[in-house]
Amino acid sequence: MRGKWIGLVALMVAAAWACSGIVSERVGDPRSARMIIGQSSDPGCEAATLVSTGGAFPKDPRTLAIRWPGYSNFELVYNGRIILLDAYFDRGSLFPPLGFKAADIKRADLILVGHGHVDHMSDAASVGTQTGALVIGAPVTTEKLLTQKIDPKQVRTVTGKGGELLQFPGFTVEPILGRHGEPPKDVTEAFTNALKPFAKPATPEQAKERAEIRSRGTNDPRVIAEGTIAFLITLDNGFRIFYRDSGGVVTDYERAAMARIGRVDVGLIAVSAAFLHSLTAQRAVEHIRAYQPDVYIPSHHDAENDGLWRATEPLFRAVKDANPNIVTVSRGYREPVCVDTENNIQRRQTR
Ligand SMILES: [Zn+2]
Repeated sequence: MRGKWIGLVALMVAAAWACSGIVSERVGDPRSARMIIGQSSDPGCEAATLVSTGGAFPKDPRTLAIRWPGYSNFELVYNGRIILLDAYFDRGSLFPPLGFKAADIKRADLILVGHGHVDHMSDAASVGTQTGALVIGAPVTTEKLLTQKIDPKQVRTVTGKGGELLQFPGFTVEPILGRHGEPPKDVTEAFTNALKPFAKPATPEQAKERAEIRSRGTNDPRVIAEGTIAFLITLDNGFRIFYRDSGGVVTDYERAAMARIGRVDVGLIAVSAAFLHSLTAQRAVEHIRAYQPDVYIPSHHDAENDGLWRATEPLFRAVKDANPNIVTVSRGYREPVCVDTENNIQRRQTR
């Protein structure tokens, strides 16, 4: 009798094993982490290679592949299209390498530049020219861009103040006026001064390199209030991506857009430059309360070799207190995050 029971239990265990598919997922093996919100057996969702530099597209056209190549840069790949968010790739030898150069980017359909500071737009002209992609930014951004080598026909200016919905095959882009971060000076100066004695001084070559890179961005004060654009990207199946490349306060334009749409599927949101975890976390919570993303992917948290990265864990803890269901993601440079865009609330509601 006892043997019979053991046999039955063994059978049940075997059945559960067979049904679970990937056993490692069941036991929370970190090696299965990429499958949590991704898809298995798809080179387009496994390789740490940007599709714009020759990596594979996801197999399923409805899969959205997101890769983070440093700072507020993202590469979005969906249905055979490549969208680059910001363009700051050749950061110079004072930064950890990203594993590719701006010159390696051969294919992109669209470049959305959130604002015109150097660390957001320095490679927009060259990558735009190499790829033929349309480059979109605020007036102060495109003004600077047009002083560089790029066909003006490829450049489009938006204000984010409404009535500018842009249609592309398979998705739309709505520019929304955001606001640049204004971290408290006493905090940022204290951190910057504390780090100074530990930074290796730049060699004359590095200083020259840095000046050349900086010349491809603007420091116009208009960037703060009229030059920082958030972009709402809506895929053809209703899946929404909200992109904001600076950690400033939520604007009335953003509130109005969110009052209209309610929520987004993925938020790609810059961390505030305020360094102190209490301040960066507070801003992150403001952002996720405003945009209501199911998946929160922070950005702009990396730094120069001798600089201070802004930790993502305190943000994740704080946003989970505000929304226990939120999925938080932080990956290394170029590592893919794949999302099944068919699984989105808009779609479920229209069924
Ligand atoms: Zn900036």
